[in-house]
Amino acid sequence: MRCPFCAHDNSQVKDSRPTEDGSAIRRRRQCEDCGARFTTFERVQLRELTVVKSESRREPFDRAKLERSIAIACRKRPVPPERIEKLVSSIQRQLETSGESEMPSARIGEMVMEGLKALDPVAYIRFASVYKDFREARDFEEFAGSVGEVSGG
Ligand SMILES: [Zn+2]
Repeated sequence: MRCPFCAHDNSQVKDSRPTEDGSAIRRRRQCEDCGARFTTFERVQLRELTVVKSESRREPFDRAKLERSIAIACRKRPVPPERIEKLVSSIQRQLETSGESEMPSARIGEMVMEGLKALDPVAYIRFASVYKDFREARDFEEFAGSVGEVSGG
């Protein structure tokens, strides 16, 4: 890391620890040339977050794609676009603060379902049916039944 005081190319890491919320690593550095001390923060950039779909399938996190899949679940439902936007932002924030560079798609799917459950029960079931890929109609009925209990309470 280049020294911000004298622009020397190398600095030594004196201390390295996570920030309080765990979303970043804070490093105390000292310039090898002028001896000045400065602090850097290292955090995961979401465009570098990898979504792990299966053993062999990985792809970069795509916020637009996430927003699209939620919007499809909410089609013709009384869910204002700004609520969808808000849900996507909240999921993005959870991903950022996780500090992980890889995230299973199943985990993101659960975050979406969690959010949709509070927004609209029909959108929730639609998303879940695509996401969970129900094999039997009976599985879906059982699931829909459990949603009825959840949203009724
Ligand atoms: Zn320096």
